[in-house]
Amino acid sequence: MSEAANSTKGDYIQMDEVDWVPFPEHLCTGDIKFKLLHVSPERGGWTAIYDCKAGSSFGPHTHLGPSEYFLLKGRMQVRGGEAAGGATAVAPGYAYELCDVHHDHTEFDEDSELLMIVYGPLNYIDDGGKTIALVGCSQMLEFWNASR
Ligand code: ZN
Repeated sequence: MSEAANSTKGDYIQMDEVDWVPFPEHLCTGDIKFKLLHVSPERGGWTAIYDCKAGSSFGPHTHLGPSEYFLLKGRMQVRGGEAAGGATAVAPGYAYELCDVHHDHTEFDEDSELLMIVYGPLNYIDDGGKTIALVGCSQMLEFWNASR
């Protein structure tokens, strides 16, 4: 699995043989773990699967490229969920999201699993809109390697 980041050849990942690692605490609340499946500098993105426990959420961020996700399990409230004018994804659910979409509240109200294919960095911001982390494929790789 140490080859997860190798972009010079294809990858095959036996996902059940790879341990979950904690997602960086400053970018989420609650219990979120991930497995980095591939990074692609040539497309500026990565593929990862996330294990998001009930009550967890991702910090506010803007996607600087499009992304796709497949909610394999559980439920995800995007931009506050339908009740707040956003969207509620219920597994099994797929979405293609456009470049520049902003996700201020991405919450999991039940244990969920999410596969994401990201085509550009994510700009994580604080409550005042100031960047706290610009997360591209090299940063994802750093998070991944630091936790293993
Ligand atoms: Zn997002």
